Amino acid sequence: MIPVFTFAGQRVGVMGLGKSGLSAAAALKAGGAKVAVWDDKPEQRKIATTAGWDLLDANADRLDIAALVWSPGVPHTLPKPHALALKARAQNIPMMCDVDLLCRAQESASFIGITGTNGKSTTTALTAHIFRQAGRTADVGGNLGTPALDLAALGAMGTYVLELSSYQLELVPSLMLETAIFLNITPDHLDRHGSMDGYVAAKKRIFNGQRHPRTAIIGIDDAYSAALRDQLLRAGGHNVIPISVKQSVAGGVYVENGVLMDATGRRPTQIADLRSIATLPGEHNWQNAAAASAAALSQGIAAPVIAAALASFKGLAHRQELVAVVDGVRFINDSKATNADAAEKALRCYQNIYWIAGGRGKEGGIASLKPLFPRIRHAFLIGEAADEFADALEGHVAHDLYEDLEAAIEDAGDRALAEKLPGAVVLLSPACASFDMFKNFEQRGDLFRTEVRALWPQSATASANPERRPTP
Ligand code: ADP
Repeated sequence: MIPVFTFAGQRVGVMGLGKSGLSAAAALKAGGAKVAVWDDKPEQRKIATTAGWDLLDANADRLDIAALVWSPGVPHTLPKPHALALKARAQNIPMMCDVDLLCRAQESASFIGITGTNGKSTTTALTAHIFRQAGRTADVGGNLGTPALDLAALGAMGTYVLELSSYQLELVPSLMLETAIFLNITPDHLDRHGSMDGYVAAKKRIFNGQRHPRTAIIGIDDAYSAALRDQLLRAGGHNVIPISVKQSVAGGVYVENGVLMDATGRRPTQIADLRSIATLPGEHNWQNAAAASAAALSQGIAAPVIAAALASFKGLAHRQELVAVVDGVRFINDSKATNADAAEKALRCYQNIYWIAGGRGKEGGIASLKPLFPRIRHAFLIGEAADEFADALEGHVAHDLYEDLEAAIEDAGDRALAEKLPGAVVLLSPACASFDMFKNFEQRGDLFRTEVRALWPQSATASANPERRPTP
């Protein structure tokens, strides 16, 4: 644990007593602060008081605290202002999250932050992997893995690679990144940000207060991000590195026909052929690879080292994770695909797909996936959305309905193994939330992995990095 001395001798409130809230409370206490905790759920408060924490008097007219550490998972402004946040703001009490405390406590370390609507976790894990392969000391935090203040104290020789959701970016006044990565932006979580403008404004904060060399890596393949690149260039002061998987871009890092190119120097040079890297399938992953590589290049890591690190990346669990290969049939766990957009990314990567889908449906269903139906050999449908998906597939893709995931896996695997089609994959990419049948997408993906390996023990298995915490 990293003690936080900033508030030594002062009283500090901690709101939200999940893993990161409790870790922040412990770090503040270790640094000499007097900590008072709060959670809207009485059962969480009970656990905290049983563990010996003082409760914050959240209902008092005035809050007797110097700062309020807020868990990013708890809405403070939208969709509805939280009374405690309103009170803190009225009294000018600074609000921050645990990542902000890490920045204060480890000022001498170097910081890379990553945001975007999609690809944050993958890019964070990949960036840290490249840095480690280059012999640097690096640790990942923020949305990913261990709570920020439970990480090791890295000091001046280390680099923290932080996944930053838009919620966290609203709560990091001390953020001072050497390198900020802004991958992409599409409408998402608008309930928490009010409008697209609010969402973009929250994400843009990643560039606030950057430290030398103020490297700003920006994906320019969507209109909002491209406009942001132009804004930063006009404002001056940042070392802007554009990245793209759609076009070659001078001064940037881009992917052309699957080949990753470095154009930050005088002449574009090849870094790696991404088509041969099985753990980074699809253009979306190429965007992630380009961003992580740009961060590495900007900190002096050589192209051959980056190429070797990309090739040895194991990928993250539940994101097109290759869990087994049986007689040439690949079994892929893409349980993180909780909507049609995410499932589309996976369906685009394969042919002869034995597709396991369904769960708790999202608005719009799978209508947008119709152009990809010819890639699907057979669909195996589960959960609340099974009937709706069956209607959408009717007349286009053969399908069956199943009571549970286990039965769907067994039939999908048997069929794929019997038909022996070239490049066949059994793909769990549900295009649905998991909550009708599972605790979360991780539990769904874990069951897929375990079941496949139990049903086909002769499989050549692959393992991915399972380190991930579910967050917005
Ligand atoms: P996040 O942490 O932002 O949720 P992840 O790295 O966990 O992102 O990826 C989640 C899903 O988002 C992946 O399974 C894939 O479907 C999709 N995805 C990943 N990277 C990108 C990207 N760069 N652009 C668009 N979609 C992506």
